[in-house]
Amino acid sequence: MPLSEFDLIRRYFAPFQQGPAVVTGIGDDCAVLSLSAGAQLCTSIDTLVAGVHFPVDADPAGLGWRCLAAAISDLGACGAKPLGFCLALTLPEADENWLAAFSEGLSRASEAFAIPLCGGDTTRGPLTLSLQVMGEVASGCALLRGSAVVDDELWVTGMLGDARAALDLFAGSMELTPAAAEAFRHAYYYPQPPMVFARALPGLANAAIDISDGLLADLGHVLASSALGAELWVDKLPLSEALRGSYDIETARAYALSGGDDYQLCFSAPASAREQLLREAQAHAIHLTCIGQLSAEPGLRCLDDAGRTLAVQPSGYQHFS
Ligand code: ADP
Ligand code: MG
Repeated sequence: MPLSEFDLIRRYFAPFQQGPAVVTGIGDDCAVLSLSAGAQLCTSIDTLVAGVHFPVDADPAGLGWRCLAAAISDLGACGAKPLGFCLALTLPEADENWLAAFSEGLSRASEAFAIPLCGGDTTRGPLTLSLQVMGEVASGCALLRGSAVVDDELWVTGMLGDARAALDLFAGSMELTPAAAEAFRHAYYYPQPPMVFARALPGLANAAIDISDGLLADLGHVLASSALGAELWVDKLPLSEALRGSYDIETARAYALSGGDDYQLCFSAPASAREQLLREAQAHAIHLTCIGQLSAEPGLRCLDDAGRTLAVQPSGYQHFS
């Protein structure tokens, strides 16, 4: 007998671990969440469409992890603490193998990032995942894109470019060692936005963004909103061993600059915050790299360690262009 909408929700989504902020979760008309005293709500929604944002035959467990990690990286960019998320799921059919694997990956991410599933909607149609995330910050403390300050240092978390390399793996267009292939596959399906570290950023950083469309494109948003320019030191870009070992340096750099799907953070902070930032990064086992500095002169200048200016394509991924 085919699975009804309510059986599907009961079997695959209602058992998710709940959290202290969720007063009423799945099963009522609205989810009810508690905010801490003096907090503001941060909310964001992300939609992933099969064939556009992920391969139609994508690994469902990886997809479950990735769709939540990608959505919550926006909360990280604001320095917010996760409270809960809703899932609007559009499925061509109720494929139980797919649903079991997807909900398993999603629930592992939900537990790892301490963000409970508190509601959603289930409909039939082309495979589409839409996640609304909710988090909180102390009133007035949300990190935004437009508040960077001249001379701020520019930082990124994690490694960049590996998720882009996974697209070559999926396309079969690259000879890769098994270790590099696994590293790229893992980076694509299991992004690790630094959510706990991110909560230390309000008060230390001036502006932040998550890197979803590629560093150049996302940094470009910070610069445009803040009406500033920057020097970016390309030899400082954090490149994994797998990326450096698999590609020439120009390609590795291009993937780190424009690849996208990294779900790491890029933020600017005054030099006076440097020591504290490095301590927080160490405490949370986050790889943190200073990759440049902001300036009053508009535009982005990419320099190598020899002081040469490099021409780069500023494009990130864009729909409708
Ligand atoms: P309503 O008709 O009031 O919108 P639904 O019948 O769509 O409610 O959903 C019933 C309950 O199940 C609601 O609490 C809703 O939030 C939850 N829900 C529906 N689909 C999902 C899903 N994919 N994941 C989590 N919760 C869901
Ligand atoms: Mg409904």
